[in-house]
Amino acid sequence: MNPLYTAMPTTIFETMSARARATGAINLGQGFPDSGWPQDVLDAAASEILTGHNQYPPMPGIPALRQAVATHYQSHQNIDLDWEREITITSGATEALAAAIFALVSPGDEVVLFQPLYDAYLPLVGRAGGVPRLVTLRPPHWQFNAEDLAAAFSEKTRLVIVNNPLNPSASTFGRAALDLLAGFATRSGAVILSDEVWEHVHFDGAEHVSVLSVPALRNRAVKIGSGGKIFALTGWKVGWMCAAPALTAVLAKSHQFLTFTTPPALQLGIAHGLGKPQEWFEAMRAGFQRSRDRLVAGLAAAGYAMLPSAGTYFVSIDLAASGISLGDAQAAERLLAAGVATIPVSAFYAEQPVTTTLRLCFAKRDAVLDEAIARLSGAR
Ligand code: PMP
Ligand code: GLN
Repeated sequence: MNPLYTAMPTTIFETMSARARATGAINLGQGFPDSGWPQDVLDAAASEILTGHNQYPPMPGIPALRQAVATHYQSHQNIDLDWEREITITSGATEALAAAIFALVSPGDEVVLFQPLYDAYLPLVGRAGGVPRLVTLRPPHWQFNAEDLAAAFSEKTRLVIVNNPLNPSASTFGRAALDLLAGFATRSGAVILSDEVWEHVHFDGAEHVSVLSVPALRNRAVKIGSGGKIFALTGWKVGWMCAAPALTAVLAKSHQFLTFTTPPALQLGIAHGLGKPQEWFEAMRAGFQRSRDRLVAGLAAAGYAMLPSAGTYFVSIDLAASGISLGDAQAAERLLAAGVATIPVSAFYAEQPVTTTLRLCFAKRDAVLDEAIARLSGAR
């Protein structure tokens, strides 16, 4: 077969969701909530469709949404953004990733990535002709140090892709980690692409640290966000890229030829939602934290050892510490046979995978979590 076709693997999310549908299992694999989205955001988008916002909107995004993104980050993360010159709306964070990688990586450029890797990064870097330089993170802390970075960076490093909070490990990078990364990026002249789609989903009172709030990175970083993720509307696919004007000019060129634009009613729905008060975001986090704690308590009572989850919709079972000596792919099969789909975390490694953890999505109603706990209790 033509190697161009084989270079694009089937994503683990599609594989596990198809298995869940085929077997009737509860799907705690692919991350999507089954409740919790704001009705007024749906109403706002529906009304925009009915009142006729259905033609091509402006290429960089509808001004109302770009302004709303700027105001939102000013009030939540204290970041000043010029909505006209620093924000590009994309069709989901997935398009933002593709647009940024295709804009910034040329054949032969080295790209520093951290594994576990969100599934889209490596195929896109490969298609752009980039040469991946991997930093491996391991449980339970999933952090990097200066030695790890020194081994990965070179004078050919053009881009660094970082995901914070990190899917699938549910860990976060704090200011010290970003400062360390900033030093390396600055010395090699690299841009940092920071996938922050989980920026609002963090727990236990922790704060999200955006790459754009690190002074040394303000002009050499691209921050990616996702409206679908913020409002539990994962099918909406409204995302954005925020970066200094010179970078934004290059990113917007790439976006022109991928999707050009994003459905206008959905952009306006998200613009409406971004203006919600602080308390709404706090309540949203508290709700997910309760769900996390419910799943963790139930599985711990059934004898599973759980890793910490500081952010995202996910928490992982530590198989080895749970006394399960199977690899994660085999363990996922066993749990699927018991009626619950999960994601083996080794799928997020390109080499030397960690095979001892399984990712579960807790963004589900209590009754669904309870049923999953009951099924998993019988699977040990
Ligand atoms: N990046 C990460 C780390 C994600 O977890 C996801 C979706 N779960 C995306 C990007 C894709 O976001 P979107 O649906 O807005 O394309
Ligand atoms: N980001 C979601 C997850 O981590 C899945 C997104 C997708 O299916 N592409 O589960």
